[in-house]
Amino acid sequence: MDYISTRNKNLKVSSAFAIANGISTEGGLFVPEEIPALSAEDFEALKKLDYIGRAKAVLSKFLTDFTDSELEKCLNGAYKNTFDDDCPAPMAKLGDKTHILELWHGPTCAFKDLALQLLPYLMTVSAKKVSGGVKTVILVATSGDTGKAALEGFKDVENTEIIVFYPEDGVSAMQKLQMVSQNGNNVHVCAIRGNFDDAQSAVKKIFTDESIIEKLKEKNMKFSSANSINWGRLAPQIVYYVSAYIDLLNENADLSNGFNVTVPTGNFGNILAAYYAKKMGVPINKLICASNSNNVLTDFINSGVYDRNRKFFTTCSPSMDILISSNLERLLFDLCEKDDEYVASLQKSLSENGKYEVCGAVREKLNKLFFADFCTDEETFETISSVFKEYGYLIDTHTAVAVNVYKKYLNKTNDNIPAVIASTASPYKFTRSVLSALGEKPKENEFENIELLKAVSNTQIPSPIENLKNAEVRFKEVYNKDELDKAVYNCLM
Ligand SMILES: *Cc1c(COP(=O)(O)O)cnc(C)c1O
Repeated sequence: MDYISTRNKNLKVSSAFAIANGISTEGGLFVPEEIPALSAEDFEALKKLDYIGRAKAVLSKFLTDFTDSELEKCLNGAYKNTFDDDCPAPMAKLGDKTHILELWHGPTCAFKDLALQLLPYLMTVSAKKVSGGVKTVILVATSGDTGKAALEGFKDVENTEIIVFYPEDGVSAMQKLQMVSQNGNNVHVCAIRGNFDDAQSAVKKIFTDESIIEKLKEKNMKFSSANSINWGRLAPQIVYYVSAYIDLLNENADLSNGFNVTVPTGNFGNILAAYYAKKMGVPINKLICASNSNNVLTDFINSGVYDRNRKFFTTCSPSMDILISSNLERLLFDLCEKDDEYVASLQKSLSENGKYEVCGAVREKLNKLFFADFCTDEETFETISSVFKEYGYLIDTHTAVAVNVYKKYLNKTNDNIPAVIASTASPYKFTRSVLSALGEKPKENEFENIELLKAVSNTQIPSPIENLKNAEVRFKEVYNKDELDKAVYNCLM
């Protein structure tokens, strides 16, 4: 299978090339030329397989230039002994029909582990295939969870270096501690003065800075990206939606009208994976896009106008505090029948005016496929509290945004078919907010808060968080957003 760029569909590359390079040189994102389908027989066969088996079946359709044994090695490395009970994506239930897809049983307690445990393996294989012995330098801009998950995935991976940039005041205390205490000999962590969009824009600039690229070349190094614009991040996410469907089948759920999927959305990677799963043949009815007060996607899906010129809110669901959702470009490309010039013109308008409006045909498709709404911090707190009261089930702030928006969808439509809600982080990653939501007064010390949360909720502290207690701070550098070149040189040379 070939991959093409959303801004130049005549450019055809292999999946290994797409993964090794991250982004296309003209700025477009790599997408498969066609989304492969899973047949009824395929689904039947998947019923008997464990997560790794299901992942192999799904990914082998996308990564056709990987051999069976390469793919197996990658999957075993990523998913064996790294997730609780070797089960990366178990489902819990709230009542009869609402399933919570728990995607936070990995080493950093957030859903990005599902992709970022696998990506380094895919990248190492890809780099060998397409670029010989060049050392890959991974640059990451993070709003919190990506950074730690990427650090865990890439630490001490042969022939790679990783540099993570996070907004100094835009991540939770626990997220920060997780990152600045990271172990490994090839890892670097820098704070940036500014918000996530500042960090992301600055990193994008570095990627295309000729003088830095030239200097790296002299040292036999090359940039790549572990952000969710990399196809190697997206493909593993499709797997858990297929797997959730298989679990529903095995449970004999009534799927005569399909099921709805709700995703707490930021950069649009997770929900895009659900869209691709639907295209592969998973009977997803509505894709429900849940936002926090940074509701640029809600407005876009409901009006066809994408407008980032608005106030930026720092919310209690910080991993969704994003005004430019990079992966939306892939959806647009699909919805406009692969019109690369059209996509390029929209992205140009976005970077020049912070705004674009899609044509009527695209808008119609958006309305058919998606439902979108948003949830304020106050509603997020209420939702955490009411879900805990009603079901004794503890959710984090991001998952609460999704649960709240799913309720809004039900109220509006009465579309009461089975539902899968993506649960993207452990409540212990956002202890302070979750405690407040439960009516407790958070203390100064994060570890006291963790103990308090355990006591009031009668839940287990995830071991990666428990272990942080004895962690040492390794990284203290803070940079201005126009100083990233300096940061890169300090880290690498
Ligand atoms: C990254 C993240 C999201 C947003 O996911 P996208 O793929 O960027 O839309 C939601 N919740 C949590 C906890 C995250 O870390």
